[in-house]
Amino acid sequence: MGECQKCDLYKTAINHVPGSGNPNAEIVFIGEAPGAEEDKQGLPFVGNSGKLLDKLLNTISVPRSDVFICNILKHRPPENRDPLPVEIKVCTPYLKAQLKIIKPKLIITLGRFAMNYFFPEESISKVHGQVRKIIWQELSLTIIPVYHPSAGLRNGTMLKSLQEDFLNIGKLLKDN
Ligand code: URA
Repeated sequence: MGECQKCDLYKTAINHVPGSGNPNAEIVFIGEAPGAEEDKQGLPFVGNSGKLLDKLLNTISVPRSDVFICNILKHRPPENRDPLPVEIKVCTPYLKAQLKIIKPKLIITLGRFAMNYFFPEESISKVHGQVRKIIWQELSLTIIPVYHPSAGLRNGTMLKSLQEDFLNIGKLLKDN
């Protein structure tokens, strides 16, 4: 993955950011793409969005070391622009391979790009917080889309939704 040249993002990125965490995780978080700090460190969600994600994980008593965290794109888009359809197309086979190895029970998608990977027709404002069960690539998955932490950092209403959705995720984990 580090030597991937299937799109142009490797030309401007410092590091590839495959993901990090527990390779046997039952829960996988999928974000959009590395930002500046992630690109510097080669690790996902270590910048401001990551700090909020850490806080949200704390509220539901899930240690970050228990879960696996990765992104739709493994290289940073310049200036954090949105991923292009062609980048998503050539990069997501890596995500697919990761999920087939990890076989998580629950996937939390962070933001619209990760949500649209599984539900291309949906809109994040409509489906955030919903518990969706699907068979995907022969894996039986529960997927809960939530807003991206960066949206929560920009907008108080979205932050509230994100906090509420996490509390419901916490309840669901307790009941199972
Ligand atoms: N935003 C993302 O979507 N992923 C990261 O790893 C960091 C910020």
